[in-house]
Amino acid sequence: MAVKRVIDGVHVVPMGLANAFLIEGDDGLTLIDAGYPGKEAAVFGAIRGLGRLPDQLKHLIFTHGHPDHIGSAAAIVRETGARTYMHSLDIPMAESGGPFRPMRGAPGLLGAVMCKLFFHPDERLEPVAIDQPLTDREILPIAGGIEVIHVPGHCAGQVALLWLPGRMLFAGDVCTNVMGLGDPVGFENLNDGRASQRRLASLSFDAAGFGHGPPIAHDASTRFRDKWSAEEARNKRAA
Ligand SMILES: [Zn+2]
Ligand SMILES: [Zn+2]
Repeated sequence: MAVKRVIDGVHVVPMGLANAFLIEGDDGLTLIDAGYPGKEAAVFGAIRGLGRLPDQLKHLIFTHGHPDHIGSAAAIVRETGARTYMHSLDIPMAESGGPFRPMRGAPGLLGAVMCKLFFHPDERLEPVAIDQPLTDREILPIAGGIEVIHVPGHCAGQVALLWLPGRMLFAGDVCTNVMGLGDPVGFENLNDGRASQRRLASLSFDAAGFGHGPPIAHDASTRFRDKWSAEEARNKRAA
């Protein structure tokens, strides 16, 4: 099973249309997100590819509670016993396994189409229990320090995660990197989503990982700044 290094200590686990990430720390392995349902073998394969065993996965942190990020979570927890983390606003979706809060397609025709294609609020998944709620600005003592940044908009309980030792940001679905940096398929609240994109663009980091699209290994925060400060200027001109 392909496991691709992004930076020292971080590997991307390709899970079809969604990504998960493995962080190697002195305290074991941490997984960010859990892909679509039925993708647990990709995670176990990636762990073995690092010369480790599934029970060395100690933490499973979710960027948010959408089906393409929690789909294989129950199966992964069963096999590994990993401790689970999610923002409190999304915990009910994970622990019920659906339905999911509705979103509107991102601005533009493509957003509307993609949102219909890829997001099904009535989907039902195997529920996963969350052990620990996440709060904005806390630093989890995991893998040398992971800062939690609450970034609602696409999803009310979404968090971005900044792995401090490697200066890598896990952006979840605040934005995608499918055709360059861009919007996720939809938003629960567009204004909050724009504010969250700008908040991430105000941070300093080197690498970035996304729920969808390839990671960026270097100078990622420059690209965020170029994208969302330019966007802001355009919007101001249009207003
Ligand atoms: Zn999402
Ligand atoms: Zn997603």
